[in-house]
Amino acid sequence: MAMNNQVEFAEFHWMMDMFQTVDIGFIVLDREYQIHVWNGFMENHSGLSPREVRGKSIFDMFSELDEEWFRHKSEPVFLLKNRAFTIWEQRPFVFRFRNYRPITGTADVMFQNISIIPLSDTTGKVGHICIIVYDVTDVAVNKKESEAANAKLEQLSRTDQLTGLNNRGFWETCLNAEFKRIQRTNGPCSLLMFDIDHFKRINDGFGHAAGDIAIRHTADLLRNSLRETDISGRYGGEEYAVILVDTPALQGRIFAERIRKLIEQSSFNYEGTDIQFTVSMGISDVHPSITTAQKWIEAADSALYRSKEGGRNRVSIYEEKEENSP
Ligand code: GH3
Ligand code: MG
Ligand code: MG
Repeated sequence: MAMNNQVEFAEFHWMMDMFQTVDIGFIVLDREYQIHVWNGFMENHSGLSPREVRGKSIFDMFSELDEEWFRHKSEPVFLLKNRAFTIWEQRPFVFRFRNYRPITGTADVMFQNISIIPLSDTTGKVGHICIIVYDVTDVAVNKKESEAANAKLEQLSRTDQLTGLNNRGFWETCLNAEFKRIQRTNGPCSLLMFDIDHFKRINDGFGHAAGDIAIRHTADLLRNSLRETDISGRYGGEEYAVILVDTPALQGRIFAERIRKLIEQSSFNYEGTDIQFTVSMGISDVHPSITTAQKWIEAADSALYRSKEGGRNRVSIYEEKEENSP
């Protein structure tokens, strides 16, 4: 028996050592939210020793602790013997501790998951609760960093590097989505496509770098003229496309004319030379014969071709009869 007691006593000491050393916070609170137990983790991170906190209200010790929320979480643990949890995604931390971990230096505070468990006395009544605090800063920072990296990648994969406009792939995805939406709602929407006139002359006369500037210059003028709902993209080398949401072609023409004039009147300087150029444009509504997004592109493109044929630097609207015309 004495032997057994000794073993139990030794085990109790081990348990206490482990309890003090483990990298998890333990707090025991009574019905009045007064602190009874405060392990090494809590002492290290708060700078408050068990002696300083014992018998004090947790709310007096941690003014930043949201009392109403914490009571709301804890009361069912006392009353119903439930367990309660909160994770860092809901609430980054419950106790404001600084984060000292070198590898997660990007976070100033320790992210925490918290469990609250009921502690029964010998009669089975829950007179105390235990708060368990897990440091999940590594997990939280990793998750945030990978989310940021994914957002950046997604942004890159949909953006044309030269102009910053949507690239063709992403723009076409938007076009398909918009086309489906129009088929449901039957609302007005027009598609504008345009192409720089005699672009080869810029490339041939001033070099490829000048051509690139012309492409970017056009994109900048376009971007500054767009409404928030319009979806623009670089469709090809010196070709641009814009979905004019909720806008019939007749109204879209006003927008197109504005861009056309803006480009015609502006110039950019390349190695001392002012270079001017124009664009030809085509617009198409969603006519009944346009049954796919691809046909819509072809319709706007055929109007654009008519602008080229007609002498360039102009806007044309697609008309249904064009489809059957030779
Ligand atoms: P048109 O008025 O009929 O449109 O004549 P164009 O000279 O503009 O003819 P076209 O549209 O066929 O020429 C496009 C040229 O654009 C051909 C290609 O070498 C050039 N190009 C395509 N992508 C780029 C690019 O990213 N940068 C530069 N500098 N040139 C490009
Ligand atoms: Mg061209
Ligand atoms: Mg072209």
